Amino acid sequence: MSTSNGIPRRCDVLVIGGGPAGSSVAALLAKQGINVVLLEKAQHPRPQVGESLIPHVWKYAELTGAAPLMEQQGFVAKAGGITVWNGKIHRIAFAEFGFTRPALHVERDIFDELLIKHAERQGAQVFQQVTVREARLELEQPEVNYLDKRGGDTCEGAICCRFVIDASGSSAVLAGQFKSKRLIDSSMRFLSLWGHFKNARYVGADGRSYAAREVVKVRPVTFVTSFEDGWIWHIAMRQVASVGLVINTDRARAMDKNQREGYFLHTLKSAPYLDRLLDGAEYLESSFSQRPDYSYYSSKLCGENFYCIGDAASFVDPIYSHGVLNAFYNACITALAIAESLQNPAYRARHAQLCENRIRQFYGFSRSLALGEFGGDGVDSELVSRFMRQVPRVELELMLAAAFMSERSDNFHQLAENAGLNLQPTQARAHVMEKLML
Ligand SMILES: Cc1cc2nc3c(=O)[nH]c(=O)nc-3n(C[C@H](O)[C@H](O)[C@H](O)COP(=O)(O)OP(=O)(O)OC[C@H]3O[C@@H](n4cnc5c(N)ncnc54)[C@H](O)[C@@H]3O)c2cc1C
Repeated sequence: MSTSNGIPRRCDVLVIGGGPAGSSVAALLAKQGINVVLLEKAQHPRPQVGESLIPHVWKYAELTGAAPLMEQQGFVAKAGGITVWNGKIHRIAFAEFGFTRPALHVERDIFDELLIKHAERQGAQVFQQVTVREARLELEQPEVNYLDKRGGDTCEGAICCRFVIDASGSSAVLAGQFKSKRLIDSSMRFLSLWGHFKNARYVGADGRSYAAREVVKVRPVTFVTSFEDGWIWHIAMRQVASVGLVINTDRARAMDKNQREGYFLHTLKSAPYLDRLLDGAEYLESSFSQRPDYSYYSSKLCGENFYCIGDAASFVDPIYSHGVLNAFYNACITALAIAESLQNPAYRARHAQLCENRIRQFYGFSRSLALGEFGGDGVDSELVSRFMRQVPRVELELMLAAAFMSERSDNFHQLAENAGLNLQPTQARAHVMEKLML
């Protein structure tokens, strides 16, 4: 039964948020004939950061059925990465690791809209401009209260369901309710500032720079360079390049909020190579965005009638382009756990615990890898070791090479050793380059 606004009063699974995590879990469940409602606060296409995708995402996109749509979209295929870290230049090429499908640079507004439409086509009932305010999980049947902002008026409503999936990204609706959101410890707090540039040159796999219009012919790399206060990314897409920087939050605190955009532009102009890539490029002022303290985790993730996934569970760091991968992975295991639980409610608690372990494993893996230290902040080292034993070797080797490029490899070796994996040093695949021809 629906209310006058068309939103049903009941469903089996209520998903909060239609980013990569929410849309993917909704697609997977709806595909199996499960009655899913997805409520999304914004109206797609909406801006989102996180345009660099690593090749591992394809296996999850195959499961959700979104892979052919991603192919048809014609996103920019990227060849690999080049980093200039403390003056040392390294290059990796995905093809050398045996990946058969390319990594991508995607416009996230287009990518995320594609995913939410796919969820709808699979049978999920999707309502945009509807914000979830609260989920009452203590009831026999959970109830989700929302604000419907469609058509200019705001009205309240409620839906009863059997499971609530929180995929609300950094809003982390359930973690807010549980008061379980924890910032990663103080030395690991970062602020990111980013924006888009038109006609920016980009870096190809050969270490040369190319005009923006070449990007569909000559594959770019994701270009990363460290600077005095942090590091910078450059991601070339079809119409614009996304350029952003990451600094420690303490450094940002010394600055007035209004000074941050000036600092951002000044830093890009003076950073190694960036000055040349952005010479003559047009800065799109309206694209300037910032996110402070983006590294956090929730100490409570899954229960008998709720699951927190994607950024609503944790986000560590953008350095290895892990965010969308984490969202996809969490969506796939959650869909499995909920489909099983609906069939066999007696095992609900067990499935929730298994899923929580998996989500925590991936968080621990990302945290240990990205922040260059092991343990701490809710990381269970035994879970991480077990996870590493299950990750396909090709993916581990890519991560090892990537970690080596940004001088974070010691920790990764330690992780592999704890897991009993005898990974051969793959530094050879992080090729040293003498110079870049930008
Ligand atoms: C600086 C930075 C750079 C990054 N770079 C990369 C990168 O290069 N590659 C990569 O893979 N990842 C990157 N990420 C991470 C990536 O952006 C996220 O991990 C990814 O978007 C997570 O997907 P999600 O679906 O969990 O959340 P989101 O994409 O945030 O989607 C959540 C959705 O929930 C909606 N929502 C929020 N609150 C409510 C509510 N109350 N009710 C209803 N809907 C709600 C939002 O509108 C949104 O659409 C980066 C992150 C940062 C901070």
